This record gives sequence, structure tokens and C-alpha cells, in this order.
Amino acid sequence: MCCGRAAIDSDWRETNLMKPLEIQQSLLILLLIFSAASTTMAQKRKNIVDLIIRGGTVVTMDSERRVLENGGVAIKGGRLVEIGSAADIDRKYAAREVVNAAGKVVIPGLINGHTHVPMTLFRGLADDLDLQEWLTKYIFPAEAKNVTEDFVRVGTRLGLAEMIRSGTTTYCDMYYFEDAIADETFKAGMRGVLGETVIDFPVADNKTNAEAMAYVERFLKKWQGNALIVPAIAPHAPYTVSEDHLKAMRALSDRTGAPLVTHISETKREVDDSIKAKGTSPVNYLNRIGFLNNRVIAAHVVWPTVEEIGLLKSLGVGIVHNPQSNMKLASGVAPVPEMLKQDLPVGLGTDGAASNNDLSLWEEMDTAAKLHKLISNDPKVVSAEEAFEMATIRGARALHMEKEIGSIEKGKRADIVIVDLDDLNQTPYYNIYSDLVYAAKAGDVHTVIIEGRVVMRDRRLLTLNEETIKVDARRYRERIIRSLGAKTVPED
Ligand SMILES: [Zn+2]
Repeated sequence: MCCGRAAIDSDWRETNLMKPLEIQQSLLILLLIFSAASTTMAQKRKNIVDLIIRGGTVVTMDSERRVLENGGVAIKGGRLVEIGSAADIDRKYAAREVVNAAGKVVIPGLINGHTHVPMTLFRGLADDLDLQEWLTKYIFPAEAKNVTEDFVRVGTRLGLAEMIRSGTTTYCDMYYFEDAIADETFKAGMRGVLGETVIDFPVADNKTNAEAMAYVERFLKKWQGNALIVPAIAPHAPYTVSEDHLKAMRALSDRTGAPLVTHISETKREVDDSIKAKGTSPVNYLNRIGFLNNRVIAAHVVWPTVEEIGLLKSLGVGIVHNPQSNMKLASGVAPVPEMLKQDLPVGLGTDGAASNNDLSLWEEMDTAAKLHKLISNDPKVVSAEEAFEMATIRGARALHMEKEIGSIEKGKRADIVIVDLDDLNQTPYYNIYSDLVYAAKAGDVHTVIIEGRVVMRDRRLLTLNEETIKVDARRYRERIIRSLGAKTVPED
């Protein structure tokens, strides 16, 4: 037995004692298992988010104006969860979708503070005229004969596609059938402050002021609380809407909290007429009747005095500067350097495509920076950084939405645009703001994210069909030309 046991033990040693090579292999396997387990543990420890943007130069536009090289952004539930270095974000977060922004610029989505989006269908219809002639001889008649809900939907889709393609993620609008505009905007995944126009003459969607006010009430109720749409009230201007109606709209805004979108002091003639008819300028008149406050978004404001700028600042009125539209209609040059000096919430807008003729904020930034240098004979006013600020965080202030949008900051809504940095027109670059304002073009926009959702990836629109949009727009072109009396329609 003893010997037998010894024989067994010896066999056991033969079979069970590992050779050095086997030991090494086993250790390696153990190590692999351990490292796989710890990787899984680390993955589990990571916070799961919806989307990560990694790499690239992140231009935050936060209060410190941080610019992060090789940055990263984590997005969850439509909001920005964290902004940091790509390595930091990688260590802390895992996501179903990762957008690689290496070699590109990551910026807050651009904000178009003033437009009339369906007017894309009137692009180039009547150019090189002053505002009164342009409005009364062409735009108002063309609108009277053509604007229907379908027209508005087609024009809105065209404008939305153009804006998303050029990196705009929020726009402020004023037009008719604004409920249809809100519907198209929501479907395209775009953000909008959308104002139903109220004007003291019969228009396409409402024939009387009572009808218009009832429409506005329904519209506000329907969209209140929507993540993308801020419904607004849009009295056209102090010269097209009576004092009583302006006061009624201010009261409705007080009751609902809805913004008031309007045009103020667009031309010298408007100011002169106001002084003649009301004894004072449009700004002072609107203040006298108690219309102005920190829910008003005023487009243009080309002709305020220095005192009126101070008044607008103290009341918290948002201002939207539209340099290209003002230049094209020769309306004048808004005193933007003074507005910036007094730190007014002043943003940038394209105005409608009929008076611009595009919806690109890149052109507005470039024009704003250059126009004011020329007119004030001072190359230091409206720097590239200030122009970029007007299209982002200061533009958000103009829309009274600076807590939600306008910068890449934790907690804000995830509206982000990724722009190429290596196109010929950007090569080489030395200063990021100079590159973005003076060199980058709408075509350099690569990817667009709104409320955490990718709506354009690698220059391909994901929520709108460009081919259908162009076919629909050309169909309207024929109809519009015929409506203005033409017997034949020239080739497009
Ligand atoms: Zn306008």
C-alpha cells in the first residue's frame, strides 16, 4: 500500500506539477481574464450618456471664453452633461454614439435672431429697392396672392434646410401660419422662437385683429413647454399696429410669459413719421405706452439715440442687428459699437431671404465686423470675437434664452456645430475667432446637433429631404411669377 501510495503520489506529481512554460501560460490567461474583468468593471463604472463628441478645438463661449484643444463633450437627455479634455470624457463616459471631431472646431450652434423663414420662396423676387417700395409694390402684393399654409410649409422647409446646413440651431421668426412653421420646425428637430404676426390689415391667415389674437392664444397654448419651440407674439411694427393692439399683446405676454417679437426703428423715415404722428421716436413711443420690457425681441433698432440705447438696456430689451438686410435696403447702420459698449443683449439676424438673400450667419458675422469698422473709421470696433459672440451667447441674450443656449456649458441644451478647419479658405489659421468670422463659410459646416440629436452628419441632412424641397420651391416660383401678372415664366 505504502509503495502503491508512493507510486500514485509520484504519478500525481508527474501529472499535476506544472512545467515553467505552463505556469507562464496560466499566469498570462489569468492576467487576461483579470484585465478583461477590470475593463468591464471600468465600463460599468463609466456613466452612460447618449452622445459623446471627442477631439477637436472646443470654443465654449462660456464666461471665461475657454477654448479647449483636443476637447470632449458628453450629452444626455438633450443637455450638456460635461465639457473637458477628450481623455477626461473618455475616462468618465461611454455612449451609444460617438462623433469624432478631431481636426475640427466644435462651437455652440449659431443663433439667427431675426427672419421670416417662408420668405425663402421670394428670394431674388425684387432686389435693389428701398424698403417702402420693396414692401408695398412687391412683397405685400406677392404675399397677398400667394401665402397659404402650404406655401408657408414649403418655404419653411427650404429655410430650415439652409439654416441647418450653415450651422444655425436656433432661429427667431415672424410670419403668418406660424403654427405650421412650428410644426415643420419641430419635425426637422430645429429650435425656434416663433412669433405669429399681428398686423392691422387683413392677411393670409387672419382677417381681423380679433381673429389674429384668437389664433395667437391657441398657438401659445399648443406649444407652451415644448423642448424645441418657444411660441411668441409678433406685432409687426409700431407703424403697422395700433396702440390698443400693442397694449393688448403686451398684456397677453404678461399673462403667458411669451416673448414679443417686433421691428423697431428700422428706417429714418419710420422715425420721422413717428415724430410727426406721435410726437416722439418709435423707442420712446413704445416705452410711453408701456410696451417695452425684458420679453421684447426688437429687430433692427437702426436709429436709436444714445439715450434710447441706455433706455433699452435698462428695460432689458433684446436687440437683433441685421447688417446685410439693412445694407441692401439702405436702411442705415445700427450703432452696434455703442450697444456693445453699453453691454446690450444684441444678436445677429439675416432678416427674410427676400432682403438678404440668404440665411447664413457666417456672412452676417463677417459683415457686422467689417461694416462697423468702415462706418466708424475704426478697425478696432466689433472684433471677430465680438461678432462671434453676437451669433452665439450674446444672441442668446437677445432672445432671453442665455440660460438655455448660446454656449457650450454644463446643463445647457446640447446645440452644437462641428466645423471643418482644414479647407483651403481656412489654411493656415492663427486665431480661432478670426478664422470663424473672417474665413469660414457656411459650406465648412460638417455636423449639426440640436437638443442632443444629430440633424446633419458629415454634410448630409438627416431630417429634411433636399431634393423634394428644391422641387417644391421651384413649383412655387412659377406660381409667384404668374401671380404678379407675367404671361410667361422665364427658365429657372
Ligand atoms: Zn424683419
